[in-house]
Amino acid sequence: MRALSALPLDDDIVDRVMTFCPSFSCLQATILVSKAFYRVFQTHPKAITRAVAYNIVGPGLPQALRVLRYPPYNGPDADAIEMAEACREEHGASVITAEEKQKLRENAEIVGKLEDIYSLTTKDRTSKRSVLTSEESWRFRRAAYRIMLYCSVFPGNRYEFDEIEALDDQQIEKIRGQRTAMLNRYQTDELLELFSVVKFIQGILSSVVDDDQSNMVDILLSTGPEGAVLAWEERSYDALEMDLLGDGLLHDDEDNKLFAGYFTLTFENIWTRRNLKPPKEEDPASKWVLDEVIGANDTCSQCAAPGGLQLLTSANWDRFPVSPTACLKNKLKSNASIIGPFAQATAHLANLPSHSLFLGIHNAVNQAALGAWITEIFDVRRAPGFEVADGWDVGASYCAACLSRFLEEHVWVWFLEERVKSTCLCVSASMLTVPAAGWVPPEDCWYGYNCNTQTHKAAHQTGKNHLCVPTRGSA
Ligand SMILES: [Zn+2]
Ligand SMILES: [Zn+2]
Repeated sequence: MRALSALPLDDDIVDRVMTFCPSFSCLQATILVSKAFYRVFQTHPKAITRAVAYNIVGPGLPQALRVLRYPPYNGPDADAIEMAEACREEHGASVITAEEKQKLRENAEIVGKLEDIYSLTTKDRTSKRSVLTSEESWRFRRAAYRIMLYCSVFPGNRYEFDEIEALDDQQIEKIRGQRTAMLNRYQTDELLELFSVVKFIQGILSSVVDDDQSNMVDILLSTGPEGAVLAWEERSYDALEMDLLGDGLLHDDEDNKLFAGYFTLTFENIWTRRNLKPPKEEDPASKWVLDEVIGANDTCSQCAAPGGLQLLTSANWDRFPVSPTACLKNKLKSNASIIGPFAQATAHLANLPSHSLFLGIHNAVNQAALGAWITEIFDVRRAPGFEVADGWDVGASYCAACLSRFLEEHVWVWFLEERVKSTCLCVSASMLTVPAAGWVPPEDCWYGYNCNTQTHKAAHQTGKNHLCVPTRGSA
């Protein structure tokens, strides 16, 4: 077999092949293929490495590298202009160290996840993965890395609460001046893009704090894109408090003087300096980044209520604030012989994540599993023997009221199916495990899920089946 080193390929082609590697490990493997590849790499190591870094990070590479290379912070007395000019965004080739490669990958993953969330909530509610155009994605990522830099220069974990208390007003003013200088370097259109992405992150953080905790959002913002992704995934700020913030920062009842107006004050200073009208309060987070929002005027497929991006679809209903038990039809919620087995059947939806009060849910719900479960409920309408109202489509979009109604009409049918088909492995007298049959429903109660007696008479609860449609009036 002919050795690879003898392949009749021009150096230019080999060079080009290496620049297409999607990861540094792929590049490394390619270099090790043959001496010829290694030799070509050695002629342009910086350019090839940069090309691969570009494949990983995208056009935001100069911003991503600046995050890694920005010099350490020198405190309130550091010169604001020097800080703004330090380590400029570099567009040429340069050596990328192994440590930087690792960090680039990690940060690219954070920014990628943040873009997916941004896309789902501001661009297209039907896709969990980003559908931003390449131009939109570039604007978003450039802004996200610049926010990441700002938050790494002025992070929430530099000071503990007591140290902030010790900062005098002059020092606080100097830090605010440094923040303004850092963002004032960017052109107005790019600054507005950054403003939109900050607004989007603010929205995520606001959703994990209670209404009377809004002063915490400024502090949480200092955790940057990483904090935003964590808050979204955990539906809580607990992880941010533990890993990304100084001790005691969130337990101050007053506005924290160092973090109050963390971004807003900086933007205000710049709009004033540039004699610009500030963006309006009601401007959406999509305004300066997206060219087009998909389905902005869509309506609920059941009741035609307007909803746009707020409508619920299979891509976003894992965020739907609902507890499974609340979905049981009418009086079934109060039937003790139903609630227990139902809780078992839906135990996978209630594995108690850390912050149970998100969006007012008091029975904590594993909402990622909730999304899959809601999708499963759409299958029950095809179950034989049940005349469940048709017209619900797993691919359609619903307002919250209609999706709640759908669940109430269908969850009990799903549960009946589950209960009847469920089997458990039991140990028989001969010590062999044998499957036990699922639940055999007793005779249907005339009043079905509307039966009042099922709420207080134990014998009736188990003596009759209530997972059925009423055939008589109320009892
Ligand atoms: Zn509706
Ligand atoms: Zn009954």
